[in-house]
Amino acid sequence: RSGIDTDIFGQVLQEAHSLFAANTEGANADYIPELAKVDAALFGLALVTADGKVYTAGDAEHVFTIQSVSKPFTAALVMREHGDAKVIAEKIGLEPTGLPFNSVLALELLKARSVNPLVNAGAIAAVSLILADTPDQGFDKIKGFYETLAGEELDVVEEVYRSEASTNQGNRAIAYLLHRYDRIYADPMESVDVYTKQCSIGVNARQLAIMGATLANGGINPVSKQQVLDAEYVPRILALMLTAGFYDESGAWAFNVGLPAKTGVGGGILAVAPAKLAVAAFSPRLNQSGNSIRAMRAIAYVSQRLGLGLFQ
Ligand code: GLN
Repeated sequence: RSGIDTDIFGQVLQEAHSLFAANTEGANADYIPELAKVDAALFGLALVTADGKVYTAGDAEHVFTIQSVSKPFTAALVMREHGDAKVIAEKIGLEPTGLPFNSVLALELLKARSVNPLVNAGAIAAVSLILADTPDQGFDKIKGFYETLAGEELDVVEEVYRSEASTNQGNRAIAYLLHRYDRIYADPMESVDVYTKQCSIGVNARQLAIMGATLANGGINPVSKQQVLDAEYVPRILALMLTAGFYDESGAWAFNVGLPAKTGVGGGILAVAPAKLAVAAFSPRLNQSGNSIRAMRAIAYVSQRLGLGLFQ
């Protein structure tokens, strides 16, 4: 296929795909009814280097909802919009919670009540910090930003958006609690709605890997060559991903793999090896923490084979 290279990176990606092709551990998310319908057999991998080489294996063109893999990117947009990384520290928080992504307890127990931008509370607060006159304008900014990161147009998967919007009472409760603590900066229900739409943006593994490679490349999309994000914000985003990207399994992931990464209940995981490359994996079956088991295994394998772990 044109534009797709085959060398050690391509080989390792194929190995990871073959090794875990038969893995059926875990189950699709079903608290968002539409996600339960996604074909659980799908398995896609993509690796994009910081100089723009693209490798894929399996169902790398299959579109799935980005879900929480969106969170670091919206946090990046908040920094860009406010022209300062400090806005995240001051208005949201930086500390990992060690709790599930949708934890209300985290808001109650931790001092920075919106917690960190990679769990629901902090991510909803991040959406409320996007500077916009209307929710639609805010959403268009978010989607437009993701499109420049991916270098391609992206669309909302409407069925998933509607499915989550009609079942997201928990996130609405979180937004009202943020409001009570003065830790949300726009209308709570409008912020939840934009957040839900953001989570429903469709990406494929290749596009997600390009978004990650933009972080690996200091904020310059290595395929389109466009500077999308100031380089100074990249280490901040990667630090958040390393400490909080897997919710209550973030410590285990850092211990076992040692790469900044982010998971989503759509089955996607994106890992970044700073200055080197990004790997994205998609497989819908999740473990108890809402992290895709096969995507975790595949990325851990690629990381180990290529010696990517930060602390090695
Ligand atoms: N949209 C999902 C939610 O808020 C995202 C959760 C996730 O991917 N962990 O529940």
